Amino acid sequence: MSERKTIYLCLAHMSEEGWEQKYVKEAFDTNWVVPMGPNVNAFEKDLADFANSKIDGSAPLDRTVVCLSSGTGAVHLALLACGVGPGDEVCVQSFTFCASSHPITYCGAKPVFIGSEKDTWNMDPELLEQAILDRKARTGRYPKAIVPVALYGMPYRIDRIMAIADRYGIPVIEDAAEGMGSRFGGQVLGTFGKYGVLSFNGNKMITTSGGGALICRTPEDANQIMWLATQARDAYPYYQHTAIGFNYRMSNVCAGIGRGQMTVLNQHIAHHRHVQALYEELLKDVEGITIHKQPSAFSPQTSAFDSNYWLCTMTLDPSVKVRGQENAYREVIKTAVGGAAGVIHQVDSPVTDCQPNDNVEAMRVWMLGKKVECRPVWKPMHKQPVYAGCDVYTNGVEEAIFKIGMCLPAGPYVTDEDVRYIVDCIKEAIEK
Ligand SMILES: *Cc1c(COP(=O)(O)O)cnc(C)c1O
Repeated sequence: MSERKTIYLCLAHMSEEGWEQKYVKEAFDTNWVVPMGPNVNAFEKDLADFANSKIDGSAPLDRTVVCLSSGTGAVHLALLACGVGPGDEVCVQSFTFCASSHPITYCGAKPVFIGSEKDTWNMDPELLEQAILDRKARTGRYPKAIVPVALYGMPYRIDRIMAIADRYGIPVIEDAAEGMGSRFGGQVLGTFGKYGVLSFNGNKMITTSGGGALICRTPEDANQIMWLATQARDAYPYYQHTAIGFNYRMSNVCAGIGRGQMTVLNQHIAHHRHVQALYEELLKDVEGITIHKQPSAFSPQTSAFDSNYWLCTMTLDPSVKVRGQENAYREVIKTAVGGAAGVIHQVDSPVTDCQPNDNVEAMRVWMLGKKVECRPVWKPMHKQPVYAGCDVYTNGVEEAIFKIGMCLPAGPYVTDEDVRYIVDCIKEAIEK
């Protein structure tokens, strides 16, 4: 029997035809090995065509896309373009990866964290409006921007969020980094707000090895983003600056990978949805395990939701006994969980005051032993020590999900056989 390979959460996957390498080679052959050029222009056009498409056959939208060096940079520039500066406040979903909120601090502004609703796990519109009114009452000013996040690809309730944003005249920056290709009412996420963030990091729906983009409402907005992304230069024969800019443009080499990846984007989305459906089917009778689904699955009124299911997630009831859970959190972790890039800061204690339940940690360790990479869901930002003291408006939903939630492998390399194996391993981990 051959040795089983590790099943990772979501791995980069290139087109069968090797389009990525063809476009990268073109960059070398034409000596466009710089952060602009034909691949960047063509990738931006492909992305705009995709973002502007409607599934109901109605007229396409007219958004413009600007390619950048990362999704984090895209959030940063969108905030700056919304006028966010020192002393300002920005409402951001607490249940997210740090790249949604960190750029707020880059601007010298303060995040105001908004809790999640139970069914989508995303920004609760009621809490958002409560926060906006309370900030106005306390500080005399409205928050400068609103950042909802499509967690694991799930669409946020953008109809209600836009209605609230418009009521108070606050721009929305959609963090659709995980939600590329997810739709709400047939319209692509990232096209509703003033700006929409995409990420092409190695583990996202498509990759450029690293990169991101901003979907902009108007060509003027796109122009301003492009200007800020290229060191904000004024029109003189020499370098003259009236504003602080950034070096955030995408490389023409990376854009070549992106152009190739656009040929498999729809395939990837279809595959993620297929894997989700299989998990739903195979886990439906496992007591104490709930696979997280989009609202339409249990309410015909909310069929507007169309998730890309970037990562599949499940929750584990606290009553479920998992093998080895008495040993959970006994040892300090020595390596980055999930093979995250870079250096991790060594810690003294294996526990924090807010962590997944012991049975969830035991399940992670069990699955790792079975060569399946599982990961806790994002730890809410308002529970992060680095954000201690920030204001939060919550009903406790995201903290409760953090304690019981878990991400399951879902990428293009995950086969039907893998999903069956993963589900068998989950069942095996549960003590009867
Ligand atoms: C990945 C991600 C980003 C952007 O990340 P980059 O790695 O900088 O491209 C932003 N927000 C969320 C929620 C993400 O998951």
